[in-house]
Amino acid sequence: MSIPPDLPHQVFRQAVEQAALAISITDAKANILYANPAFERVTGYSQAEIVGHNESLLSYKATPGLVYATLWAQLKRQRAWNGLLVNRRRDGSRYLADLTITPVVDEEGHTSHYLGMHRDVTAVHRLERQIQNQKAMIESVVDAAQVAICLLDERDRVVLDNQEYKKLIGDLGREPAAILLAHLRERMGAEFDAARDRGRAIHHREVKLERPGRSSLWFACAVSWFEEQDVSADAFYEPVRRHYLLLTAQDISELKRQQEAIRLNSLAALLAEQEHIQSLRETLAGAVYQLEGPLNTLAAAVRLLERRREGNSEETIDAAMEEALRNSRAALDTLRACIPDQAAEAIQPLNLNEVLRDVLKMSIPALLAAGVVVEWNPAPELPSVNGGATQIAALFRQLLANAIEAMNERRASERERVVRLFTQSIPIEV
Ligand code: FAD
Repeated sequence: MSIPPDLPHQVFRQAVEQAALAISITDAKANILYANPAFERVTGYSQAEIVGHNESLLSYKATPGLVYATLWAQLKRQRAWNGLLVNRRRDGSRYLADLTITPVVDEEGHTSHYLGMHRDVTAVHRLERQIQNQKAMIESVVDAAQVAICLLDERDRVVLDNQEYKKLIGDLGREPAAILLAHLRERMGAEFDAARDRGRAIHHREVKLERPGRSSLWFACAVSWFEEQDVSADAFYEPVRRHYLLLTAQDISELKRQQEAIRLNSLAALLAEQEHIQSLRETLAGAVYQLEGPLNTLAAAVRLLERRREGNSEETIDAAMEEALRNSRAALDTLRACIPDQAAEAIQPLNLNEVLRDVLKMSIPALLAAGVVVEWNPAPELPSVNGGATQIAALFRQLLANAIEAMNERRASERERVVRLFTQSIPIEV
């Protein structure tokens, strides 16, 4: 593009003089011939001080030699060079210069001068470095966390994750966030969407993941949503908000296994106590029954004697037998009172699959000892049944014990039991 003929040369001079960029013009050896007021402001050198000196006066000597060699190689090919140099001001302080040098080529094709333009980008660089440092720090903290963390964008794409999360990908073989969020959405239903719409965080929701052939995994999950301003140029005057979802998942499988073991132990203790009481009840009831026979005979004898009584000689026997009868009845009552009551248990909705699974787990030692293989076919979905958890568990345990005993008695060659739970609708006749 050529310069319009009506544009006075004076305008060029004024434009350079008044430019906000530090501008200098040198000869072919980089000796300064001219520097504008902005150059003075940035470097601290006045025109009078700097003119006649080489641009190398600004060098802090911390810029690697390779940078200068590249700079000069580019200029020798009469190409502009742009880069960052560490400069030293007149007062000795340093700044980072974003410098562009353009060769000025004369009509014969020789580089007669160089035009240098630079600005102090120390503050911008400091900010960039601070952001990089903070990012590196956040990433190392997030990476060191013993919790799987991942950040998803609006399209559920993972934009950030940590080492624990990456480990989980290996464990599950699929994107963990997709699996965990699907479980949470299914379990929470409309509550999940309501929390997202209101930007309310979801805390500590437990999710269980079944893994075929391997132990299940339990996670304590938390979800929160946040917005970020779009940093693209398009959004400079019209801010656009981007939405992100932060998911954290802590593996609590070990804790859950411990809790499960404690729960099973206490259920086993309860069952053992119940079985003990039951056998005590049966023994005492048997003793009462055994005693009732002779007592009834005694009572009949007393009634017979009463009817036959004529003389006073038999009154003594009569009285003695009455006494014996009274004492025996009192003893029987005492024995009956010793029979322990069956403990009342809260009736609650039960998942029979879970109760039977507990019983099977508790019966593992007995099954192993008897060499019995159990095929366990629970119905995927069962309606809940109202009952006492311990009593139903005791019932299943008894059934299982009977099955094992029956197999042992008959010395069955096939040592396999199929345990199946299924739903069957019972027609109601009116
Ligand atoms: P130098 O002795 O100058 O040399 C370093 C290397 O540069 C040499 O090994 C050589 O390969 C190459 N070199 C140097 N001069 C020439 C030359 N005339 N022809 C071919 N190769 C050469 N430097 C800054 O540090 N800060 C600035 O702000 C800055 N502004 C500049 C503006 C302009 C317009 C120009 C032309 C140069 C500018 N320079 C600037 C570069 C400066 O001239 C020096 O080359 C640089 O500062 C290194 O100086 P030095 O004394 O450390 O090394």
